[in-house]
Amino acid sequence: MSTIDIDNMGVDDVGTNVNLNTTQQPTANQPPQECIFCAIVSGKIPAKIVDSNNYFVAFLDIQPKAVGHIVIVPKRHVMIMDQMTDEEQASYDMILKNLILKQRSALGATGYTIISSNGGSSGQSVPHFSVHLIPTYSKTQVELPIMGLIQPQKVPEFVMDDVQKKLQGGASALAATGYGGQ
Ligand SMILES: [Zn+2]
Repeated sequence: MSTIDIDNMGVDDVGTNVNLNTTQQPTANQPPQECIFCAIVSGKIPAKIVDSNNYFVAFLDIQPKAVGHIVIVPKRHVMIMDQMTDEEQASYDMILKNLILKQRSALGATGYTIISSNGGSSGQSVPHFSVHLIPTYSKTQVELPIMGLIQPQKVPEFVMDDVQKKLQGGASALAATGYGGQ
């Protein structure tokens, strides 16, 4: 199955539960045989490619949330965004912006929503970094109020203060809490 469906991010498209626990040391980014996005990058699975550069490929989602819904994936089997090299990150920024401009100029999009789930706790279903770039078209109404769909959590003020201190402390402070990864 090669669907890329943000509504079913909890369902693993490759048919097995993939452990994306990012606190574990990543294995050398060896693509699993059945990685859908690697198969699209290599051309084994056909896709409607709309753009590519040195490090990224962009194609139309086969279950689009809007006309012109694009999925952007790195050519290398990178599981999550922060595993990308600086070159890949820069390349991502360029292809993303280029596609946003194309959605606006060629399709008449008036806005866009960017969605990317990273890690098992986010509900990422395919263990290969991907970004959904979904154009919106209405001038008069909100078409994809994605942040409104995510229910807010009640976080006590003292926890907010603690979190603020930890984040201001940078990577070393985060590592001490267990969120730093390595
Ligand atoms: Zn892959």
